[in-house]
Amino acid sequence: MIRATAGFVFALLLLTAAQNQQQKVFQLAPGVYFWQGDTTIRRPANCTWILFKDYVVVIDANFPWGAREILPEIRKTTTLPIRFVFNTHYHADHAFGSTLFKDAGATIVCSRACGVESRTKGEADWRNQVLNRAQSPNASEHDKAVAAETIAKGYRLEHPTLLFEERMAFDDGERRLELIRMGPAHSLGDAVAYLPKEKILITGDLCVNWTSGNNVGDKDADHANWIRALDTLASWDANIVIPGHGRPGVTQTLQGQRAYLADMVDQVRAGIRAGKTADQLANEIDLSRHQPFGARPSAGSVRAVYRKLVTTN
Ligand SMILES: [Zn+2]
Repeated sequence: MIRATAGFVFALLLLTAAQNQQQKVFQLAPGVYFWQGDTTIRRPANCTWILFKDYVVVIDANFPWGAREILPEIRKTTTLPIRFVFNTHYHADHAFGSTLFKDAGATIVCSRACGVESRTKGEADWRNQVLNRAQSPNASEHDKAVAAETIAKGYRLEHPTLLFEERMAFDDGERRLELIRMGPAHSLGDAVAYLPKEKILITGDLCVNWTSGNNVGDKDADHANWIRALDTLASWDANIVIPGHGRPGVTQTLQGQRAYLADMVDQVRAGIRAGKTADQLANEIDLSRHQPFGARPSAGSVRAVYRKLVTTN
């Protein structure tokens, strides 16, 4: 309880500092840094980096235009080489920036399942969100320009080349960082990063802590296992929980995300049993009591969960 309280106070301090000073980088513990993503400028994913004795491990690469901002921030904290970038999952906002870290000398790490997703769904996303968008008559001028610039700068979709099945660790005798696969959940290959000594947990999109909702629509998402994964993560009693998006949280943040998802799945399942359509449920289901997770109308998420439950039952 004392730990949770300390973590909560720390998260509040971070939030207050972020609001007051527009500060972007925070030291979570000696040698552990956090850069908060910002969806209003299309760099939505959080990034954490950890200094070991002779290298840096970065967690989540953002989009290329986010990575371009993060790299100089890392350089302000250390001259050590950035040797590894870990993708918690393959989604564009966490993995597309890996190309810049690779060019800076890093090897891209993720679970084996995430590596498979990168080469299949990730390829399709890169085609749609970058290659095709640069030409698309339907894309906004801004999106077209961003895609064209990404291509012009020579950024590529770089796939992870250091893959683990369930777990791996970086350990230099002083610092230990564990990577642990929790998927299938938000995607097939989700993995989290955990610093057992500092009790800092970095969840990727298994947990978010903002008002923009979560993406529950990956075709390989497993909502039931996602809920179980959040129970497991909450049992670790971390001091600080760094979500995929939004401000730092604590164990209660994991529990709140779990309650939001479980409520959504339960209500959709009950609606299907009652013979309701996806449209009806998208209109009816209200998740706004789960703050901040349910702040945004959940129609899109409800439809995604409906599709999943109908096709798997
Ligand atoms: Zn994300």
